[in-house]
Amino acid sequence: MMKSILILGAGSAGLIAALTLKRKVPNVSVRVVRSPEIGVIGVGESTTVNVGEHFFEYLKIPRRRFYELAEPTWKIGIHFLWGPLPQFDYAFEPQMGFRAPGLSRPNGFYCEDRFDSMNLQSELMAHGKAFARQPNGAPDIPPWAAFHLENVKLVKALETFAREDGVEFIDAKVQGAERGPEGIAAVILEDGRRLEADFFVDASGFRSELLGKTLEEPFVSFAGSLFNDRAVVGRWDRTDEPTLPYTTAETMDSGWCWRIDHERTINRGYVYSSGAISDDDAREEFVRKNPKANVFDRVIKFRSGRYGRAWVDNVLGVGNSCGFVEPLESSGLMMVCLQCNSFAEMIVNADPTPSLRGYYNKLWAASWDEIRDFLTLHFWLNTRLDTPYWQHCRHDADVSRLTALLEFYQENGPVDFSPYQYGNTANAYGIDGFLVMLVANRFPHRAKYVPTSAERQSIANRRIQYKALAQSALTVEEALAYVRHPNWRWFAES
Ligand SMILES: Cc1cc2nc3c(=O)[nH]c(=O)nc-3n(C[C@H](O)[C@H](O)[C@H](O)COP(=O)(O)OP(=O)(O)OC[C@H]3O[C@@H](n4cnc5c(N)ncnc54)[C@H](O)[C@@H]3O)c2cc1C
Repeated sequence: MMKSILILGAGSAGLIAALTLKRKVPNVSVRVVRSPEIGVIGVGESTTVNVGEHFFEYLKIPRRRFYELAEPTWKIGIHFLWGPLPQFDYAFEPQMGFRAPGLSRPNGFYCEDRFDSMNLQSELMAHGKAFARQPNGAPDIPPWAAFHLENVKLVKALETFAREDGVEFIDAKVQGAERGPEGIAAVILEDGRRLEADFFVDASGFRSELLGKTLEEPFVSFAGSLFNDRAVVGRWDRTDEPTLPYTTAETMDSGWCWRIDHERTINRGYVYSSGAISDDDAREEFVRKNPKANVFDRVIKFRSGRYGRAWVDNVLGVGNSCGFVEPLESSGLMMVCLQCNSFAEMIVNADPTPSLRGYYNKLWAASWDEIRDFLTLHFWLNTRLDTPYWQHCRHDADVSRLTALLEFYQENGPVDFSPYQYGNTANAYGIDGFLVMLVANRFPHRAKYVPTSAERQSIANRRIQYKALAQSALTVEEALAYVRHPNWRWFAES
């Protein structure tokens, strides 16, 4: 019976784990030990749709308080400056594999000439609008809306909620751990104190103090298919720029650059491969393309991959301590929430047996491996630039796990199913994410379909409807004013 849990680390991963366990596992005591000297990573700002779902639906954090404390803005998709098209939008709504009324094939078959405006979200993105209006004029914010969040504000908000729930915090640096029959018996602090628990969560970020260092779980590197390992980051204060309701991912000479719009600042980060460009040259390219940015001194170094297992004996790794890929599809917080959710559901319903751990680890590893494949596809398909870095991505990335998917696509086109079984793992992209990349990057298929004139008319009519809705829709600023008004009511509020 698990009675006490000690979480090492109070970044977003440790705090989401603390909140999830405290709220879902009755009668367990949860303590968090974290080092103010080491601090948190300070990046990790763009989410997928499952993050809000985890916070509001699963953990029942009141939206109103979350908005007050974390001050999020919204993200309704990713705007790609990527591949052969001048741009394309990956909107968070079924896009390519979805068959709209009046069409005999899924949307992707009708995107030979134009990729845009196949759903309302992408039309909103094209207009820089966040939400369509409800009949009363207020923003129609979907319950699953994704966010742009400032890491430090998110961490403070989560800590406030965790303290209110009775989670205890200990400010100290862990310098080692004592092994015991169950795995780990206690962590040892720098001041000599010894903290025991039945169960430990390693949320120590890239340091992976327990899973990597103490338990020496082998690391599975993704370096054969994902070549980036560094980021240079900068930001500037917003002046008159509108707040964009999407993340931008822009092709750079030796990697790619994100743009994330917060309410008062605009953040950009160049993710690159140290094998292709030096830190100084990456910084120079970043500044040249973002002259307003104040660049942080620190270069962030990372490695892509996951540990063999996330749950080893009485230790669960969560967040960067157990798996990481570059933030091209914002997988970090997504995986933290999915991991915490599935772990809580398992231990509430069953004892933590070896077979339960085995099942958890299989699901978790398959999810990371699928994310690796998804990102690999982004790089492998991107023909926009012909620099040595992009040639390397196109020619040398290991795409062997994608072969079945690609062959199926070549024969059948953008249909919403695949023998590869994407979708049986836990992530928010599904097969539609892969189809967006394949269609937008003009990967060829042989299942050509010539739309009838009635279908062309149906698509044109839908585009007119979407355009009208987008023109009268609300910007991020307008929608924020609504949700901050004292009369605003979120879904479940009376
Ligand atoms: C360049 C970059 C961009 C990213 N962008 C995104 C994004 O857009 N979206 C997204 O979802 N994710 C993103 N991520 C991932 C993001 O960092 C994580 O999703 C998230 O912030 C979780 O971090 P963490 O809690 O695992 O680690 P951290 O924030 O690093 O927290 C680690 C904690 O452990 C503590 N700690 C470590 N060692 C010790 C010790 N010995 N003793 C005591 N305490 C210790 C630290 O003090 C800290 O509290 C990005 C990551 C990088 C590198």
